Amino acid sequence: MKKLISVVIPVFNEEQNIPLVFDEIKKTLLTRPEYDFEVIFVNDGSRDNSLLEILKLSREDIRVKGLDFSRNFGKEPATSAGCHVATGDAVITMDADLQHPPVVMLQFLKLWEEGAEVVYTVRKENRGAGLFKKLSSKVFYWLFNKVSAVKTESGTTDFRLMDKKVIEVFRKFPERERMFRGMIDWMGYKRAKVEFVAPERIHGVATYSYGKLFQLALNSLTSFSLLPLRLAGYIGIVIMLISGFLLLGMLVTNWVSAPNMFTPIAILGVSNMFLIGIVLISLGFIALYIARIHNEVINRPLYIVREKVNISEKN
Ligand code: UDP
Ligand code: MG
Repeated sequence: MKKLISVVIPVFNEEQNIPLVFDEIKKTLLTRPEYDFEVIFVNDGSRDNSLLEILKLSREDIRVKGLDFSRNFGKEPATSAGCHVATGDAVITMDADLQHPPVVMLQFLKLWEEGAEVVYTVRKENRGAGLFKKLSSKVFYWLFNKVSAVKTESGTTDFRLMDKKVIEVFRKFPERERMFRGMIDWMGYKRAKVEFVAPERIHGVATYSYGKLFQLALNSLTSFSLLPLRLAGYIGIVIMLISGFLLLGMLVTNWVSAPNMFTPIAILGVSNMFLIGIVLISLGFIALYIARIHNEVINRPLYIVREKVNISEKN
């Protein structure tokens, strides 16, 4: 039996790129005849003829498969959907716009054969991305790594290979607001890295607008970190301490050394600060409980077992 490689491609308005990317994939994978492959296009509510292109290809080649979303749900759900239906021994996810050069897959396959269960990529250069995009991506990774329990390298992309067992566990993740890469990183497993240079998009425009990217960034931060929730509490502690000492100082000064140095209004103001500090601390406490609820609700597996030794399914 030949091993099957599934290539999953989310598609949003890529009518011109679909035949090109498929050609490239075919050319690349035909150089490794020891593998069979399937290419799963997930049409994420495209408003152009992307679906027609997918249908056309699928008539010409049964290795082309497709899912057609009822509307635009976003790249993360589209990638997930492709992984949910993929049947390969390894699943490769890539963009449709050829910014993820299919030849790099050969390196993936080599590392996979050598035992890697997740092969991830780091983009060395992102041609065509503006200064702002580069900068905001840097800031995002810095922040993400500061606050999150999972570390992600700057410049990692959704161009990846995952072994079948990784995908099987991934299918069980029920969370809704999701960041594909973050979830795969969270899972661990034996990892290998490939660096590549991202060329410019050939046709069409990058549809990941800044708004969408910002939302993705927010989702990622909130699904991998509870810091934003705790922040209120920390700020409260700082405010309470500062205003507490200040208040004490003012009262003591008024009583002992210089009566009436601080007006009642000033004292009232600082007392107010003190109370605000207490309110914020209470919010922080509530946040701790919400954090627990959040953890229960996203319902991640508690641990992931790679292999069982002398333990049968019944145990
Ligand atoms: N994409 C998608 N749904 C969307 C936006 C994008 O499936 O709502 C797909 C798109 O077709 C492409 C990949 O996600 O295959 C990356 O999109 P894009 O090139 O616009 O993003 P960037 O290169 O800026 O990361
Ligand atoms: Mg792109």
